[in-house]
Amino acid sequence: MTLNIGVIGSGAIGQDHMRRCHFALNGSRVTAVNDINLEQAQRALKTLGIAAEVYADGHELIRSKEVDAILVTSWGPSHEEFVLSAISEGKPVFCEKPLAVTAEGCRRIIEAEIAHGKRLVQVGYMRPWDKGYNALREEIRTGDLGVPLMVHCKHRNPEVNDAYTTNMAVSDTLVHELDVLRWLLDDDYVSAQVVFPRVTRHAHSNLRDPQIVLLETAKGVRIDVEIFVNCKYGYDIQCEVVCEDGTAELAAPPSPRVRHAGSNSQHVLLDWKQRFIEAYDHELQAFVDGASKGQIQGPSAWNGFAAALAADACAEAQISGAIVPINMPARPAFYDPN
Ligand code: NAP
Repeated sequence: MTLNIGVIGSGAIGQDHMRRCHFALNGSRVTAVNDINLEQAQRALKTLGIAAEVYADGHELIRSKEVDAILVTSWGPSHEEFVLSAISEGKPVFCEKPLAVTAEGCRRIIEAEIAHGKRLVQVGYMRPWDKGYNALREEIRTGDLGVPLMVHCKHRNPEVNDAYTTNMAVSDTLVHELDVLRWLLDDDYVSAQVVFPRVTRHAHSNLRDPQIVLLETAKGVRIDVEIFVNCKYGYDIQCEVVCEDGTAELAAPPSPRVRHAGSNSQHVLLDWKQRFIEAYDHELQAFVDGASKGQIQGPSAWNGFAAALAADACAEAQISGAIVPINMPARPAFYDPN
């Protein structure tokens, strides 16, 4: 069976996922595309060489008989309405992060999905599909290192444009750590604080860069995440878990050691798409397989809610400078892991 996919939002990640679903994965093809800008959707299809129908309205695309499952890759504030619409049609939906721009929006999606009675939503947090993070999780789970005490993370991008604001360091960037660290530690956050070091001269006037986010978990693990989005040298994701009897660190992507012109060096990636390219393939193959079998897996609406709740607290902490509590409710049985 081939899963017919409708895509809402044909920008950067939308096109990347369209290519993936139509040409790279097993068992799927793109049959419908919508974008708020119709010319953009047409251009994307032409560039990719895909013959699919262009819909002027995302909700009409969701209702179409030509569409079995939906990818929501539009602007974040539009995600909630399209995910709710897919649930009301009983169709599987892969939603890029964020699931909704507020924790309340995620709650509405959770209520709708539980009322439907079966999981339909997979959230596009791809790090749990990354080989490096999986190896790190396995290492921690052996118990050989004792229990985790501290986690030190770095999320560095070479640069950002003028539209990137101080808040986006949380809502766009940190959310990946907020999702993957809960999964890595099997723990929930209880508080967040944000501190601002000296600002880099490379930041534009609306942006305080870098930032350090300090999180505490229910089990007492302390986490620090450096977010530095104008680091200039590359796209660099680091994560070190310090346990009672040793440490475990996320492996860097393989790259040759180069000895040249008096130096001994290793390249760092510049493009975020390259860093997680295999993880994107795995998350979407899992969506295609899950949607075809009626068994959606991977980051759930509950995970999307947890990341959004923590992100809301971090955003508040950016403004107040205070330690902001995070009151994560108990997970409904509907979202228990199998
Ligand atoms: P983008 O390049 O701006 O593309 C978004 C597209 O959606 C644009 O063509 C936009 O049109 C369109 N759009 C906006 N509102 C819409 C609506 N109501 N209905 C239909 N189309 C709409 O953005 P992007 O970088 O692809 O990001 C899209 C989403 O993916 C964001 O939520 C982002 O956070 C997420 N993302 C995730 C990852 C990841 O690593 N998981 C990476 C990148 C992006 P206009 O340009 O005319 O507004």
